[in-house]
Amino acid sequence: MTERPSTPTSGTTTEPPPEPPATATTPAAGTERVPAPGAAESGAVTGPGPVPVSETGEAGAVTGHLPAPAAAAGPAGRAPVLSVRELSVRFLLPGGRRIAAVTDAHFDVAPGECLALIGESGCGKSVLASALLGLLPANAQTAGSAHLGDLDLLTAGERTLARTVRGRRIGLIPQSPAAHLTPVRTIRSQMEETVAQLTGERNRSTLRTAAEQAAGRAGFPLDHLDRHPHELSGGLAQRAATALALIGDAPLLLADEPTTGLDRDLVDRTVDELRRHVDADRALLIITHDLAAAERVADRVAVMYAGRIVEITGADAFFGAPGPRHPYSRGLLEALPDRSFTPIPGLPPELGSLPDGCAFAPRCDRATGICATLPPLTDSVACHHPAPARTPEDLRA
Ligand code: SF4
Repeated sequence: MTERPSTPTSGTTTEPPPEPPATATTPAAGTERVPAPGAAESGAVTGPGPVPVSETGEAGAVTGHLPAPAAAAGPAGRAPVLSVRELSVRFLLPGGRRIAAVTDAHFDVAPGECLALIGESGCGKSVLASALLGLLPANAQTAGSAHLGDLDLLTAGERTLARTVRGRRIGLIPQSPAAHLTPVRTIRSQMEETVAQLTGERNRSTLRTAAEQAAGRAGFPLDHLDRHPHELSGGLAQRAATALALIGDAPLLLADEPTTGLDRDLVDRTVDELRRHVDADRALLIITHDLAAAERVADRVAVMYAGRIVEITGADAFFGAPGPRHPYSRGLLEALPDRSFTPIPGLPPELGSLPDGCAFAPRCDRATGICATLPPLTDSVACHHPAPARTPEDLRA
């Protein structure tokens, strides 16, 4: 694995990198990606904007690649929209500490497919999303690759990412919509500008109609379009950000906790709109804590724990029979109120001090001595003692 270090900034903190602010049109200072050595591009940031990622990992050692699982690939016969291979992210902290936020992520997302990335906070999901968008802080190092067609997102220059990727080839529904929206402009103005940038349309009446159509897709009330972001509730800001992300009908939509702050009806409405995006032969990578939303929209599920994907499988198999096989995945499901409502004991590990073996071992009731060695990802699950498959009868019992 060849790492491509970005340039560490001076004055880095002793904490994991903070969430950088951004607006709908321009990444804020400090969020721009430092080009990898050899990257020729540079330039101003323009175009529909990305959103920063707040989730950071905490330290850990790289303990080797996991073999690529068959389930990491999308539907057979379709060239993936996004192809991620052994993607790792490290944050370099003063004193030589390294935060292993993501390790060896490996998956595809095909056109017409939704992959849901699930896991507890701090497991690296949003850092992975940030890496795909070129929005990691300057003290981050990346390794591996993430191809969007022919373009490797990890080595692309900021000019390419800003002008041709963010908002155009990858639509982003951000984790922090309030930070994503430009505070001094109305939602209508931001939507009309986004339509103009993505389509070249300049007719004011057409822009107005398109903005209202976009608002309608996300369930944003038209009588709130002339409000500023600070006049919106969290749920309305979320819907505004979703509407902005949908405008471009990008081939890949990256939705980072898109249902935060929404009541159940709006959750369902939002994920149904995202599903329509997928059913129009586009791809969706959704990052979510909301397993009900994931079940409603996803074709496949990838479970992340301590920076690694520990299971990746079909959504029907995950939520039904045979069910998830990794003890952590099963614990996530069993914690749901409509399952056994039993929380997973303990807490996720510090990503700065991960063990050589399975990071879930201290919380796992199936752990044995062999779990002190890293389990390879085989047959879609990284576990030495995967849980037995469930039958439909088990689920009914
Ligand atoms: S490898 Fe061992 S400790 Fe890790 S999840 Fe599997 S059984 Fe549990």
